Amino acid sequence: MYASILIDTTLNDSFDYLVPDGMEVPVGARVLVPFGTRQTEGFVISLKDKTDVATDKIKAIVRVMDDFAAIKPEMLKILDPICDKFKLRKIDVLRLFVPSSLRGRKGKRKAKNAVIQGLDIKDKNIELTEQQKSVIKKSMSEHKTFVLHGVTGSGKTEVYMNIIEQMLEQGRTAIMLVPEIGLTPQVLGNFRARFGDKVAILHSGLTTGERYDEWYRLHTGEARIAVGARSAVFAPIENIGVIIIDEEHDSSYFAESNPRFHTHKVAKMRCGYWNAKLILGSATPSIDSYQRAKVGEYELLEMKNRVTDKPMPEIEIVDMAAEFRAGHTDIFSRTFLKQLTETIQGGKQSIIFLNRRGFSSHVTCKNCGWSAKCEHCDVSLVYHKEDNMLKCHYCDSRFKMIKTCPKCESTYIKLGATGTQKVVEELQTRFPKVKIFRMDADTVKDKDSLLKILADFTNTPSAILVGTQMLAKGHHFPNVALVGIIDADNSLHFSDYRATERTFALVTQVAGRCGRENDTGHVVLQTFIPTHYVYKLATKYDYLNFFEKELNTRQITKYPPFTTIVRVLVTGEHDDKIKDFLKLMMQDLRTRSGDFVYLGAMKSPLARLDDKFRYQILCRFAVQKEKEMLDFIDDIKSSHKSKNIQVFLEVNPQSLS
Ligand code: ADP
Ligand code: ZN
Ligand code: ZN
Repeated sequence: MYASILIDTTLNDSFDYLVPDGMEVPVGARVLVPFGTRQTEGFVISLKDKTDVATDKIKAIVRVMDDFAAIKPEMLKILDPICDKFKLRKIDVLRLFVPSSLRGRKGKRKAKNAVIQGLDIKDKNIELTEQQKSVIKKSMSEHKTFVLHGVTGSGKTEVYMNIIEQMLEQGRTAIMLVPEIGLTPQVLGNFRARFGDKVAILHSGLTTGERYDEWYRLHTGEARIAVGARSAVFAPIENIGVIIIDEEHDSSYFAESNPRFHTHKVAKMRCGYWNAKLILGSATPSIDSYQRAKVGEYELLEMKNRVTDKPMPEIEIVDMAAEFRAGHTDIFSRTFLKQLTETIQGGKQSIIFLNRRGFSSHVTCKNCGWSAKCEHCDVSLVYHKEDNMLKCHYCDSRFKMIKTCPKCESTYIKLGATGTQKVVEELQTRFPKVKIFRMDADTVKDKDSLLKILADFTNTPSAILVGTQMLAKGHHFPNVALVGIIDADNSLHFSDYRATERTFALVTQVAGRCGRENDTGHVVLQTFIPTHYVYKLATKYDYLNFFEKELNTRQITKYPPFTTIVRVLVTGEHDDKIKDFLKLMMQDLRTRSGDFVYLGAMKSPLARLDDKFRYQILCRFAVQKEKEMLDFIDDIKSSHKSKNIQVFLEVNPQSLS
């Protein structure tokens, strides 16, 4: 008997090995095999009676590494389609299917169940709203892809849990996906309270051992619901009844480092295999998903009202240019400060959103124009006042803060755009008695720090919570009456066709954090471009008109969903070598220039990262040609290999930086 085994080599092929007599080798098992002068791990992808390898050349499997087959038959079946769709190496994709403790020679650990502590809340006895009932009924009728468009606070989680419950009753399993930073204590608590030990939670806050334990409980069928961020789409469960992608528009569903994949597409393949339903939920669906629902490829489900029947909070736009002209150069507008004071006096809570952590970005010299940049990346450093350091938010390098300009020795050092630390400092000066909490990547290191901030904030009347988009996702704050969006334009300024879509979603999400239970909430949105249509429509919560306008723009400018974008990202340490490499690739790509809507090579906006230069070839072509063109580009990519140059292919990337 022989086994086809995938191992980690530069090749994308499997190798045949002999199965020694008496050795039990299940398909999907992880095995140790000799390769060259070393031994390495591999995965058995099939068994066969014959091989083309000569009898005196064939090597034998050394041993089977686990007492179970790590990869289940379904996953082996979708391996090839996934690799083909995203142009990935099989071994890289296989590794996504197993937890990190099953990679390399590491042994597995004993299962112990480290259930997440401190989240045990009682399952509420809830009477579903008519809206919820109707959506659940419709989605139960068929197995296909649904877009659930439901306003913030319409009770989507309850709908998800109800559908999952029905699936379990039918003897099936479920996967519930949330954005990376959306795995909130509330969501976890709700699932724990409702489903107890049947839920396995896969998130980055777990230790390697805890992750393995949760994965193993799913693998054995002890747990039947997987809850987690995008990689949980590979949960080792069988007989799936439903996969739910909550906040489906969120960019974290695109894996941005290797292996690059899009969660929705993987979910669709798994649902296809099991004849399961796929539910894409959001208050602001992605243009792509909503378009598919509009043309009938997906089915649209709608929840237009909040559970409490409270109206959506009113969003007030403040023109910061007018503030400036009136002599008010503060980061807070006068109207926001007035409302903040009133909210505090009324014993209510406020949230301030700002998508920039640290104290301030862009440390520059007023005298000579020098600016503080990372030694390893082509980006400005961010000043962190707490430890008086300049930090690179890309590679994490740290440098001492300067007192004088290193170039001209002037002491006129200017600090640029405001970050969360500075906002907290300024507010504390204005309101010395008020408790102010900060929620960003610097203060939230793990789930315990997150839980503590949330609990402390929730229990403190008049408190203010300042944070980055981490606070926009999914949290349920019962007593927040005021939300301030300090620098709304920040996300509009990205040179990216999705910038408006993202801004609309962000404003809607942040605004949705207030007025959820008791009070009518109020939102103040500060901008320098108050007449921008994205704000006009966001203040009316007018998703439909936003969608129409955006879709129209995409059609005229030939962007997705009307075209497919492929970015070929080329990185390496030698600038000249990459340029030569790009030239050769472009020559080959141009042989089909007629098939491209756009084809161009350029420096990436983030031109250097971690001491590596970054260039990119951007291609756009009609969506109907996707498969053909993707194969063509991938062939060209494979035919050009150069030492020390890395080439990555990305389909419709979320970020073009
Ligand atoms: P969404 O995800 O749509 O923004 P959530 O699922 O967070 O909304 O629900 C908002 C709040 O409403 C939660 O506290 C939830 O427990 C509550 N809720 C949901 N459905 C009902 C219901 N039928 N009756 C009462 N409360 C509900
Ligand atoms: Zn200077
Ligand atoms: Zn750096």
